[in-house]
This record gives sequence, C-alpha cells and structure tokens, in this order.
Amino acid sequence: MPDAASESPTLQLAQALIARRSVTPADAGCCELIGERLAVLGFSLEWMNREGVTNLWATHGSGAPLFVLAGHTDVVPPGPMDAWQSDPFAPEIRDGVLYGRGAADMKSGIAAMICAVERLLAGGPHAGTLAFLITSDEEGAALHGTRHVAEVLRGRGIRPDYAIVGEASSHARLGDRIVVGRRGSLGCDLRVLGKQGHVAYPHKADNPIHRLVPALAELVATEWDGGNTHFPPTSFQISNLRAGTGANNVIPGEADMVFNFRYSTESTADSLKARVTAVLDRWLPAYQARWWHTGEPFLTRQAGLIAAAKNAIADETGIAEPELFTGGGTSDARFIAPLGAEVVEIGPINDSIHKINEHVLVADLDRLSRIYEGTLRRLLK
Ligand SMILES: [Zn+2]
Repeated sequence: MPDAASESPTLQLAQALIARRSVTPADAGCCELIGERLAVLGFSLEWMNREGVTNLWATHGSGAPLFVLAGHTDVVPPGPMDAWQSDPFAPEIRDGVLYGRGAADMKSGIAAMICAVERLLAGGPHAGTLAFLITSDEEGAALHGTRHVAEVLRGRGIRPDYAIVGEASSHARLGDRIVVGRRGSLGCDLRVLGKQGHVAYPHKADNPIHRLVPALAELVATEWDGGNTHFPPTSFQISNLRAGTGANNVIPGEADMVFNFRYSTESTADSLKARVTAVLDRWLPAYQARWWHTGEPFLTRQAGLIAAAKNAIADETGIAEPELFTGGGTSDARFIAPLGAEVVEIGPINDSIHKINEHVLVADLDRLSRIYEGTLRRLLK
C-alpha cells in the first residue's frame, strides 16, 4: 500500500511542522522551514522578529491586489502528556486522522497554504502580490506578532486587499463555515478600595464587598446592546472575584474583580467604558480600574473575497452556502482587518483545538489546500 504521506505534500509539511515543538511563543524552526519553501518559489523574505517572537513577511510579485495568507506557528501547551494517545509532537496517523498539537490550530492551515501557492506558481505568473504573514505569537500575549507586523506595514503605507487567516473555522464538515468577523474584546481589572477593620466594629471600617455588590448587580443586569444581523448581543462576564483576608473576623480593605466584554459592532470600547464608569461612580466611593482592550470587532461584508472563497469551497466540497460566522474568540484577523483588508478565516474542523489528542482529518488537508488555491486563482487572475 502506498504511504499516504508520500502522496500528499500538504500532509508531509503538516507533519514536519507538528514535529517542531513550538509552544508559544517559540517557533522552533517552523518559520525557517516555511521560509525555505517560499524562497525556492522566488518569494522575498523579511524577518520582523521582536522580543523573542519570530515573524516572517514574505512577498511575491508586485502591485495590486495584495493578497495575504496569514497564520501562526505557535501552539498552546499540550497539557498532561500521558493523557495523549500519542506524543503531541510526534505526529501520528490513526484511521485517517492526523494527531498532534497544532494539527488543527493551525499547522495544517499553514501547510495547505504553502502547497496551494506552490501549485499556483507552477501554473505560471499571477496578477498582483502574494504575501505570507507568519508569526509565533498568537496563542500567547499576541503583542509582538501580527500586531507588530501590521504596525510596520501601516507605517509603510501597505494596505492588503485580501487576507485569509488559516484558523480552524469549520464546524462539522470542512468548508461548512467561514469566519467573516469577530467580536471585540475589552476587559478590566477593578479594585474596590475600602477600609480594613474588625467585623465587630463596622462603623470604624468600610466594607468594599458591600460597596461592590449593588454595582455588580447593576452591571450583570444591563443589556449592553441587542447585537445585529451579524453579531450576537454584547456579553459582559465576570471572570474573577476576590476579597477577604482569610480571617473570619476581618472586614477586608479591598475587593478585586476582573471582567470582560465580548462586544458587537453596535458598541465601541469607549461607549462600554463610559457606561461601566457611570455605574462604578454611582456606587463606589473609591476604586481603581485598569482597562485592557485586546481587539476591535471586525466584519468583512464585501462580496469579493467572500464570493471567491464560497465558490472555491463549493467546487471542492459541494457546500453551496457556508455559514458566515462571527462568533468564537479573537484571532490575528483583528490586526489585519484594520489595515483595510477584506479578511476571512478558513481552515479545518475546530472541535479539537487546544484539547488533548488534537487532530485533523487527513483527507481534509489536500481539500483545504485546493480551497485556498481556488480562492487565490479567482482573485489573482
Ligand atoms: Zn490558532
């Protein structure tokens, strides 16, 4: 029986990438391998490494349109190794399924993109510019990866027209879902300041827990917006709540709360901050709020890239109307979209990402690669 790996360059490359132990923010030689493949094709490579993060920007051709293929080589930690059926960094195929950390998120996507471009260029010249933006800082802080490269591109006046991020977007079948937008993400570390004292002498203390509770109740009960046809309503969630000294007879001096918004395009970070601040000011005599804004929402509405991707998916899978999805967490698309690009995320089935025994269907690798190739062909004719 022929060895499956020898038949599929995408599978071979996916395996080679999974075997590199690139736990975020390590790249572990993935970008070097990617760069070698792209250099052979005539891409110009530019390394934008920063703060221990590996960033590769590689371009081929010139002029418009500029089509960016984007991805990350870093993976989340494997968790308890003995819970895995096979070594997460020794890719293994069992029953037509490829197992390994990064198999779905998102080394298969990168491998499929590179093989798609290899076939495209073998077919002759293309219009415009083809680019790869690959980073090793997506799963971690995401401060020095795509965000940094996007800042450099902005400084040079480079505006991508189209971008595909190869994140695992599919739900039950390859191509059944395209991510066309993401909610924004805004969070806050709140410290409520009171005055510590003995529970027997409350008039000499100021209990920050008692101060916080009505504010918290109001925040939890607030309807921030109703969402719209593309986004669910903005959600407010408290992720941490801490107060108390451990002693049962001490009123604590402070209470800490961490909360997070995932917000729709009906709200903005500034509008949410202002509304929260109004509630806090009403209930809390003294507090400190440290806000962190980790992503603007984005939404691709234009027909160009979405139409091309839908046609390529229909050709390969027969799925005529993939769901245009805006749920889920954040991705590096949030840094690319503000440059003015139409951005979508297309990748393998996402049900095993970040889990033990992460995997991808071997049969989906070449199909995904042909979806990328078909999309590129339609827009770079
Ligand atoms: Zn990912």
